[in-house]
Amino acid sequence: MKEILLIKLGEMVLKGLNRKIFESILLRRISYTLSDLGNFDVRLAQSAIMITPDDAGADLEEATDRVSKIFGIAALSRACVADKDMDVIKRQTAEYLAQELEEAHTFKVEAKRSDKKFLLNSPQICQQVGEYLLEQFPHLTVDVHHPDSIVYVEIRDYAAYIHGRALQGAGGMPVGTGGKAAVLISGGIDSPVASWMMAKRGVELTAIHFASPPYTSARAEDKVVRLLRQVSAYSGRMKMYTVPFTKIQEQIRAKCSEDLFTIIMRRFMMRAAERIAQKEGCSALITGESLGQVASQTMQAIGCTDIAATMPVFRPLIGMDKTEIIAIAHRIGTFDISIEPYEDCCTIFTPKHPKTKPIPVFVEKEESELNIDELVQECTDAARYIKIGYHSGQ
Ligand code: ATP
Ligand code: MG
Repeated sequence: MKEILLIKLGEMVLKGLNRKIFESILLRRISYTLSDLGNFDVRLAQSAIMITPDDAGADLEEATDRVSKIFGIAALSRACVADKDMDVIKRQTAEYLAQELEEAHTFKVEAKRSDKKFLLNSPQICQQVGEYLLEQFPHLTVDVHHPDSIVYVEIRDYAAYIHGRALQGAGGMPVGTGGKAAVLISGGIDSPVASWMMAKRGVELTAIHFASPPYTSARAEDKVVRLLRQVSAYSGRMKMYTVPFTKIQEQIRAKCSEDLFTIIMRRFMMRAAERIAQKEGCSALITGESLGQVASQTMQAIGCTDIAATMPVFRPLIGMDKTEIIAIAHRIGTFDISIEPYEDCCTIFTPKHPKTKPIPVFVEKEESELNIDELVQECTDAARYIKIGYHSGQ
């Protein structure tokens, strides 16, 4: 029996004129995601996407797992392809869904006929398939309200497709339809979740990580790479810039008031990130800040950090509790990596009593001791990137 993946589109279906662009971005994203798994034919057909393996050895299990992480997809099902002949359809339905139907007590059939030339209408298809299944699986009864199992039969242009209950897709919008933004990524719990949340709204990502060797280690950097690999299963490929931050931190420590260390450091992060973001064609910055979580995330501190950047700064976690953030981190597979204990540049030189209500003019006065432009230029010039989530050879 020939099997395909049948994809139902998400929210993008609603987007009128932009729909075609969204669909073509999604098709490209699916094709790229599967390109190292074998030959798949990916095409749009009657408001669904069909993914057909060209060779028998293609790994449909892995393909399903990868596609379930692609944003813009509401639901997906593995489906079996049958000739448009009721005898064949009935037989293949019983065979293809045998295991599921053996385990169920109740079921119903739902039919959809987009090929209006097919001789039977949807209620007739349901009735015939239902009757056949009751003969083949005598333990079953029909329940149209809360069935254990739903059998779908879709009669489309070139074939009939049979499948069971669909898997939930990742939702959201296809990455690339919402612009491009640079995420400031630490090794913590929050910023990978913030990355995932913005990618879910269709934002393509560039990642920027500040490292302070020798205070931070190569293993801390490797941890960020592994976090981003997890994120890229959802967000697609991205570049990760590592920016050397030691000199800036040492100068702030030497020349500025201790209680303003963190806020001044964060303003430098914004400036450097913005410079790289502009070069990468990004229109916004993203951080994993959540209001009140730490001293640098009070409303005044965030305000004071914000004005160092001219780009909009998105903070998708701003109103979330840590427990809510952790739940997402578990779901996207970043939590276990995030809790590995390596130093982040934010946790070195932290003042004992940081100012929680910094006032911008005082912060600027402290910063005037530093050559801001030169320091930012120097660290961004020295930034290096690696590619994350690219298939080999690309
Ligand atoms: P996270 O769990 O993401 O590390 P956090 O609660 O530890 O966040 P902070 O350390 O104050 O909070 O950092 C706030 C935000 O600043 C992070 O979510 C991230 O966006 C950014 N950030 C912190 N450290 C770095 C870093 N080394 N490189 C890049 N961005 C960073
Ligand atoms: Mg952190």
